[in-house]
Amino acid sequence: VSRFEGISMAPPDPTIGVSEAFRASTNERKLDLAVRAYRTEELQPYLLNVVKKAEMLMLERGEHREYLPIEGLAAFNKVTVELLFGVDNPVIKQQRVATVQSISGTGSLRLAAELIERYFPGVKVLMSSPSWSNHKDIFNDARVPWSEYRYYDPKTVGLDFEGMIADIKAAPEGSFVLLQGCAHNPTGIDPTPEQWEKIADVVQEKNHIPFFDVAYQGFASGNLDADASSVRLFAARGMELMVAQSYSKNLGLYAERIGAINVVCSSADAVARVKSQLQRLARPMYSNPPVHGAKIVTNVVGDPDLFNEWRKEMEMMAKRIKSMRRKLYDSLTVKDKSGKDCGDLLDEEYSLPS
Ligand code: PLP
Repeated sequence: VSRFEGISMAPPDPTIGVSEAFRASTNERKLDLAVRAYRTEELQPYLLNVVKKAEMLMLERGEHREYLPIEGLAAFNKVTVELLFGVDNPVIKQQRVATVQSISGTGSLRLAAELIERYFPGVKVLMSSPSWSNHKDIFNDARVPWSEYRYYDPKTVGLDFEGMIADIKAAPEGSFVLLQGCAHNPTGIDPTPEQWEKIADVVQEKNHIPFFDVAYQGFASGNLDADASSVRLFAARGMELMVAQSYSKNLGLYAERIGAINVVCSSADAVARVKSQLQRLARPMYSNPPVHGAKIVTNVVGDPDLFNEWRKEMEMMAKRIKSMRRKLYDSLTVKDKSGKDCGDLLDEEYSLPS
């Protein structure tokens, strides 16, 4: 008998059921909407040209593969914080950001969750209802209590802004408020700039700490600066905040696991302390982060030519995503002559797993 007898089967990831049903379907016109990556017109994974170029440069230079320090590649940390806030942002000039390269967006969120668990015991994280499904699991596993604020309103298929504000207001003073910087997963609904201002008002009023998850910078609008405007708006108010970043989507570096956690503090002194603790938490979890993707990002963002090329490629991807969505919507809402929905892209035999 196995010593692991007491271990029961873990429930499957909810998205896997959708992918399996997709594979099993024999409908020629099937579309996989569960795939978590950008695909080409030919349904193939997309390797960005700028990534290829950066990798060529790295090969030419014969870059080594020695361990990075716990905090990651210093040059990566510099470009990533500049990309997020903009080079001239006072938070950078005043050295008020603790940046640590971590294991993409997920690992950065988890590292921040560990920091919350250790230094803010009992403090809740508020997240949108619904949110990316992993958010709950990340905070559960880090033993950080969380609750939800209203976000999606099925009646308007839009943002329940009043509900969101009311729930953030009603939360205990000094909570963490998890916000998605842009391209909200899973609703695709982002607050308007005016709404972001009002959200910042209540967050500030309640002395909450904003905690941004930025997994899609550049992917929402095609513009890196526009997509970071929510985060920058909060920073411009002089607030302390946390931001988890990911390069999975915008550079197509999914499996390289490249991202960072940034903690904006009110003093350079606090930055040093926070950074030291982030490193202390990271060391026993994974020792140090990966180097290959960090160098790709550094080469792309740090080189004006490659950076410009990246911006164009990203704009292309963002535009194509929008047009795909439009086409899907139009196809699903086609009406036949009698006014009945055709929705003929939907496989009638397939319904979503509950
Ligand atoms: N946050 C959100 C909202 C996401 O949708 C994702 C990926 O789907 C992530 C974070 C993390 O992705 P990764 O760990 O690949 O950076």
